[in-house]
Amino acid sequence: MGKVYLVGAGPGDPDLITVKALKAIQAADTILYDRLVNPELLREAKPEAHLVYCGKSPGYHAMTQETINRLLVKYGRKSTSVVRLKGGDPFVFGRGAEEAEALARAGVEYEVVPGITAGIAAPAYADIPVTHRTLARSFAIVTGHQKKGEPENVEWGHLAKAVDTLVIYMGIKNLRWICERLLLEEKAASTPVAIVQQGTTDEQKTVTGTLGTICEIARAADIQNPAVIVIGDVVSQHTLMQELKATGAPELQELYV
Ligand code: SAH
Repeated sequence: MGKVYLVGAGPGDPDLITVKALKAIQAADTILYDRLVNPELLREAKPEAHLVYCGKSPGYHAMTQETINRLLVKYGRKSTSVVRLKGGDPFVFGRGAEEAEALARAGVEYEVVPGITAGIAAPAYADIPVTHRTLARSFAIVTGHQKKGEPENVEWGHLAKAVDTLVIYMGIKNLRWICERLLLEEKAASTPVAIVQQGTTDEQKTVTGTLGTICEIARAADIQNPAVIVIGDVVSQHTLMQELKATGAPELQELYV
């Protein structure tokens, strides 16, 4: 019997992996990895390690979750060390809990190795803090994935009123609907919004606007997945930092001479 590590690979920049995750990859006999995992990390695997792609792309499931669960149990029983490598954190929209449950039910030992989640790291690389002493005392991580015709799976009304920063994953396809939904809950049209695409990678792209304008801005900029939507006053920090970097904050420089 081996052990299965449910590992967070971090948000994109391969250096944003934890030491523990890296050690697990280097020691693994079998690695089952997802689409959003930076391929550079797989080069850390032993040459003889067995690599299995379990990728899912939006709208297309290469492997069902049941198949992945079954494979994890199978490899967990025969390999000494198995890594299930997922983008970001395995327990943030990563279905890691379902895999842990399947392993526990099959009596296979497992361990969770948390990772840096995209919803915090991508905004951070764009100078957007999800909390801020004066701008935001709370944040929520929300799924923007809502199938047409199905009952709403998110409490938009409560989120709009009670949480300062909303970080929405998997929301690009539904961007217009999400903005309209929040406006309906009386979130101001002037509320700042940023979208960070491919955050923490060399291809990172950030656009900003407001709840009223972001849809057009995102369309004009051809924003694509993977991207996180950040809604709230903290987005103003991105604009401020851009300005400070551009002007070099002359008033401050004077202070320090
Ligand atoms: N477990 C992952 C999330 C998986 S859900 C984590 O903790 O980060 C997939 C969603 O994550 C994407 O639709 C997108 O919203 C977000 N995402 C993943 N990587 C991203 C990146 N590099 N930049 C921006 N968003 C990203």
